Amino acid sequence: MSTTTRIAPGVIRVERKPLSFAQRTYLPQVLSGMFVTIRHLLKNLFNMKGLPTISYPEVKRVYSERFRGRHILTTREDGTTRCVACYMCSTACPAECITIEAGEDQRTREKFPVRYDIDLLRCIFCGYCVDACPEDAIYMTRDYEMAIDTRARSVVGLRDLVVPPNFPEAPMGWRPYYGAIDKHGTAGGTGIGQPLRDAPFKETAPPNPDVYRGV
Ligand code: SF4
Ligand code: SF4
Repeated sequence: MSTTTRIAPGVIRVERKPLSFAQRTYLPQVLSGMFVTIRHLLKNLFNMKGLPTISYPEVKRVYSERFRGRHILTTREDGTTRCVACYMCSTACPAECITIEAGEDQRTREKFPVRYDIDLLRCIFCGYCVDACPEDAIYMTRDYEMAIDTRARSVVGLRDLVVPPNFPEAPMGWRPYYGAIDKHGTAGGTGIGQPLRDAPFKETAPPNPDVYRGV
């Protein structure tokens, strides 16, 4: 406690009361803090079900269907990536963390990414790349476990991003929703209102291994 006295305009004198012996030892404060800690410890020990925390990683939270986690690049039924290296996602990316290099398939003249890198330490997980993609090629899954031990590993490429055809939808997070449409037997296309086009390769043609595996 202290008292103040105005001794001149804009000047005050502060007189502090001396601390008692108990206050100077800090013992009452320490004991009161320990009491609060022990009270919570005992309360939680005997009421584990009421704990607000979870035992991660054994127990994991279920996040929204639209959660924006790790990215994936989707694949057509013939094994090629849906991405046509149009640079729309990298142009829309506010963090400028997507690097794409385009190649051209000699059979179809279609472009595809020979390099597609995302720097996850720069990414702000805004989902703009997913919104910008005209090919349904990039989604954000609900996978949030992206711990890394070196700066270099924060940059993920085709090898990490491309998923096999018919990747199960359950783990997917944010991606555009165009309503219930049947895309079976088609490649590319962006949904309702967009003309669907034929698959770029004949049924018998092998997928371009470089596209599928990543380089
Ligand atoms: S989520 Fe946002 S910041 Fe991350 S790569 Fe996509 S557009 Fe860029
Ligand atoms: S992911 Fe989509 S927007 Fe990005 S380059 Fe590929 S096709 Fe274009």
